[in-house]
Amino acid sequence: PASRNNGFEYPKRSFFGRVPAGIERRRLRIVVSGGAGFVGSHLVDKLIARGDEVIVIDNFFTGRKENLVHLFGNPKFELIRHDVVEPILLEVDQIYHLACPASPVHYKYNPVKTIKTNVMGTLNMLGLAKRVGAKFLLTSTSEVYGDPLEHPQKETYWGHVNPIGERSCYDEGKRTAETLAMDYHRGAGVEVRIARIFNTYGPRMCLDDGRVVSNFVAQAIRKQPMTVYGDGKQTRSFQYVSDLVDGLVALMEGEHVGPFNLGNPGEFTMLELAEVVKETIDSSATIEFKPNTADDPHKRKPDISKAKELLNWEPKISLREGLPLMVRDFRNRIMNEDEGKQL
Ligand code: NAD
Ligand code: UDP
Ligand code: UDP
Repeated sequence: PASRNNGFEYPKRSFFGRVPAGIERRRLRIVVSGGAGFVGSHLVDKLIARGDEVIVIDNFFTGRKENLVHLFGNPKFELIRHDVVEPILLEVDQIYHLACPASPVHYKYNPVKTIKTNVMGTLNMLGLAKRVGAKFLLTSTSEVYGDPLEHPQKETYWGHVNPIGERSCYDEGKRTAETLAMDYHRGAGVEVRIARIFNTYGPRMCLDDGRVVSNFVAQAIRKQPMTVYGDGKQTRSFQYVSDLVDGLVALMEGEHVGPFNLGNPGEFTMLELAEVVKETIDSSATIEFKPNTADDPHKRKPDISKAKELLNWEPKISLREGLPLMVRDFRNRIMNEDEGKQL
């Protein structure tokens, strides 16, 4: 309606920084919602490095300016403090929609807000994509498979999800976000892409975000016992962040809607993960058992044949290669924190 756009009719396609055809690819203007977070900030770095303009929108719930501070002053970069639950008008070519807390501790903190972010936030980003004719990529999650009865999980599996549990705000929220994306695709012709991301780790994760890799690494560096929930025999498959970012860009640039699993098929029990962290950081590190959380999936491992075949993508970095890269970043930040306390 005219009121929303103040009477101004936006062009269906936006034209920014156009260069003569055949010389080089046109520079794109790209929105990354949630771009101040862990995955988002690495994605922004890659998009800026290849020459595109990036607008980050983030409400800083779990994101930090520190993740992007190296880009401040770069004319190709803009940062807007904005909550995606509210509408926003922008002129862009692509939207990477990541805004949503990802750690169980964060998404359970205010579950209704998590649902609003997943439903109203995704609706607003899709409305924006429809209005300006932008491509839209949703970062969904392996949690849509719930506590899976199929192993490893393929994209064709419909999942085994508790609709009324403590995790539902996140996994049902993401399932609804996928539905919305497909309905805008079928109903309004929006070019959508859906990624189902499996557990990812790397530099810039929040030190105390409660996820298992960040917990174990921070605990081992601080000489505290690593907290293993339950019997530690549950499994997860851990992907290094640069592999994920490569996969997201391949998906956005490719021809296929998805959904695509993006994850590293290397599967570990939590006890095995603790062992790898111990080998990497401190051979004297210890573990302590704590009660597990409700509805914790027993196992999780992606089948990535579809992404291999159609996106020509697969992860390159094993847990033993990726962990030291994260440990370096965590050591620096923990050291800075300790110095801060002494002042
Ligand atoms: P993160 O918490 O580090 O980043 C999320 C970002 O979104 C933060 O910067 C936060 O401030 C912002 N945000 C949250 N709610 C918002 C709102 N209402 N409006 C604007 N900004 C908001 O998490 P991450 O690990 O970087 O995850 C990014 C995306 O990838 C999420 O959508 C998550 O569900 C998905 N994902 C991540 C993983 C993983 O293992 N990291 C696995 C599956 C899916
Ligand atoms: N929207 C937005 N930015 C835009 C276009 C739409 O935030 O540039 C929001 C809009 O406010 C609405 C949602 O996206 O809440 C869905 O928009 P759509 O046009 O699909 O639906 P409608 O406004 O007709 O309900
Ligand atoms: N976990 C653990 N110790 C911790 C944090 C988590 O043993 O300090 C377990 C948790 O119970 C789950 C697995 O590690 O089985 C992965 O949890 P995370 O919160 O990282 O991600 P999820 O895959 O559950 O979203």
